[in-house]
Amino acid sequence: MTTGFAAADNGLLWRGERGIVDLSGLGDVFAQPTLNPLLALGRAGWQQAIAAARTHDGPSAREPTKLPFDVADYVDFYSSLEHASNLGRMFRPDSEPLLPNWRWLPVGYHGRAGTVVVSGTDVVRPRGQLKGEGDPAYAPSRKLDIELELGFVVGVPTELGQALRTADFDEHVFGVVLVNDWSARDIQAWEYQPLGPFLGKSFQTSISAWVTPLALLQDARVDAPPQDPRALPHLDGGRDWALDLALEVELNGETISRGNARTLYWTMPQQLAHATSNGASLRTGDLMASGTISGSEAGTEGSLIELWRNTRFLEDGDEVVLRGRAADVELGEVRGRVRSSR
Ligand code: CA
Repeated sequence: MTTGFAAADNGLLWRGERGIVDLSGLGDVFAQPTLNPLLALGRAGWQQAIAAARTHDGPSAREPTKLPFDVADYVDFYSSLEHASNLGRMFRPDSEPLLPNWRWLPVGYHGRAGTVVVSGTDVVRPRGQLKGEGDPAYAPSRKLDIELELGFVVGVPTELGQALRTADFDEHVFGVVLVNDWSARDIQAWEYQPLGPFLGKSFQTSISAWVTPLALLQDARVDAPPQDPRALPHLDGGRDWALDLALEVELNGETISRGNARTLYWTMPQQLAHATSNGASLRTGDLMASGTISGSEAGTEGSLIELWRNTRFLEDGDEVVLRGRAADVELGEVRGRVRSSR
């Protein structure tokens, strides 16, 4: 079962058919405590690194416990049609679930890179302004939720003013990670208009310790769902692939949802093209997450607010694990336990 690369204090790790292997003996980018120098190499360097990792006869190593790369900027999209529709119905029950822009561009916002943490890190229940019938009160969130997302990791940067096309994706993006974008729905509902999510999201985002190179996922590429209307030219062309990646949400050891990343309406190449379409530059280590991945059938929801219809949320002590698998490639899990508010 192949997973990809992770980082330890003395160098990089690889998890392949022979388990976890210490790559630090390979020197150079492999002897670094973060994937960033490897990310910056570009596609030819990535291919060489994968080949070297696969055949390296290094010592075995333990599960990593540190962030695999230094997160530069973090963008959170909203690419699932089902998720956007489900939340639109709940947050704006008296209007159309999808706002007019949704089918024209991958809606997103800039999140907080500094609070992206590695799998295994506890999440402390956030406090915030909660609005009931009367004035808001500052209190621990009563609606702590998860968001099951697929994130991609930028390797090769761009310059200010440069807009990427969807076809440029493979030259700039190194790989993918699973993301749990923890969300406080009560804080979010009160704060999010008109500028979007803020403290209901920024307290913590968890990613897997392992980054799976795109090169390992070639066989998992499938046609993306059709789009209507057709995307504008700068977001069109080369958009037609998604990843057939089976996803699972586990709560306290029980699987509560099973979805698939192939259902995403906006594809990863479109997300990248949109994020640079105004000329904003990319940095090595940028993390861009898909937004919650929910399917159209019951039991495929990527958040609890959808799964449990806004009736039940995470309790203190709950442990959530996200998993993803594409044929013989398994992404690193994302694990986190809820701690009570401080
Ligand atoms: Ca999110």
